[in-house]
Amino acid sequence: MLIRGGTLIDAAGERVADLRTGDDSLVTGIGVDLEPGPAEVVHDARGKLVIPGGIDAHTHMQLPVGELRVSDDFASGTRAAAIGGTTTIIDYVTPERGEDPMAAVAKWRSWAEPSAIDWGLHLTYTEAVPESTVAAGVEAGITSFKLYLAYPDRLQVDDGTIVNLMRSARRHGSLVTLHCENGDAIEELRREALAGGHKAVIEHSRTRPAVLEGEATERATVLAELTGASIYVVHVSSANSLAAVRAARERGVDVQAETCPQYLHLDASRLTGTDAGNFVCAPPLRDPWHAEELWEGLARGWIQTVATDHCPFWRADRRAGVFGRREGAQDFTEIPGGLAGVETRLALVWAGVCSGRITAGDWVRLCAEAPARTFGLWPTKGSLAVGCDADVVVWDPERRQSLDAPDLDMATDHSPYAGMVSKGWPELVLSRGHVVARDGLFVGQQGWGRYVARAPLPPSL
Ligand code: MN
Repeated sequence: MLIRGGTLIDAAGERVADLRTGDDSLVTGIGVDLEPGPAEVVHDARGKLVIPGGIDAHTHMQLPVGELRVSDDFASGTRAAAIGGTTTIIDYVTPERGEDPMAAVAKWRSWAEPSAIDWGLHLTYTEAVPESTVAAGVEAGITSFKLYLAYPDRLQVDDGTIVNLMRSARRHGSLVTLHCENGDAIEELRREALAGGHKAVIEHSRTRPAVLEGEATERATVLAELTGASIYVVHVSSANSLAAVRAARERGVDVQAETCPQYLHLDASRLTGTDAGNFVCAPPLRDPWHAEELWEGLARGWIQTVATDHCPFWRADRRAGVFGRREGAQDFTEIPGGLAGVETRLALVWAGVCSGRITAGDWVRLCAEAPARTFGLWPTKGSLAVGCDADVVVWDPERRQSLDAPDLDMATDHSPYAGMVSKGWPELVLSRGHVVARDGLFVGQQGWGRYVARAPLPPSL
């Protein structure tokens, strides 16, 4: 295919050029006034942006949560991702305590077979594991693992385990991603709230205050400083956490940060009212001034990546709660947490370009280039250069797209962004040279997506 006359944006800058993709699934040419071959399909991209396919480094497709399951599976979730301009996801394998992590990887790999776009995996360690497990993960192309500083009942690990696993990570070239909230303090606040009869959804946010995200983020950076590990803080939602990341970067800690569209566009006022339960996620939505700080962090390079933490549920499942009660969740602690987002990420970050908070170059860096570099996919993905995978989005900056659930493709009946209309949406999406979405419709194939083994971090000195 020859994509003619678009404005290409990637790490090489912004320029008007033609881009050619070949039968080998790669970008095979970039230049001005390339002549189409006799059988070549030509796509007119004048007035459009041509960017590397989005990489969503934080998803939870079909994750079991208590008696429930996340509503998007790998089939539906990757179709929606493709329509919105994302051509690679990295999903979190989340074993239960006592489950062999590599057995969980095998299970996730079988679940992911119907994926319409390429996919990689992170691994979560919910308890101490031997160094050989970390080595086995890296050997399998899973070059990042996650630790939780929250959810003591099922996910949290203690500081000693974190130190031990950070040392293993450093020796085996793995990145450590961390969910930073102080789980023990939050548990106490939740117990106190329930004991006082405070059961409403807003308590979800009151019992997970930003100071406890800031504390946990700082602790994670201190442990990285101690061990020399490279770390990545997932879903930074507050100015407190951002300040801890900035301070650590200034003293030379190798820490990167991710935020998500929900923390840029939504605030804690959503946690009151009749559909409050539809906005439960962790960390919780914050007061609006935090979002202003996060946008500034994106513009100034203090936050490197925007991912989604995609984790949708059906409305009925939110009402039933994680115990699946027919009479409905008894209090805020039973509402499953997580929001839909894999389809709308590029549009919601693009909104910041339209409002002048970030540049189009920032948008591409945050949504594609940085996650490729950070997670061992560069330069195969995240770039338009000749020889890279032809994961390409032709973005129409004039196309209007409603963000109401019925107008989107994720398996959920409620959208966090209902009522919003994006000005900007993909008109064409290629995954390894193969058209997977056109004019807002999925035209790819289930199972086209391939597992991507990711490269380890360069050895540290
Ligand atoms: Mn998550």
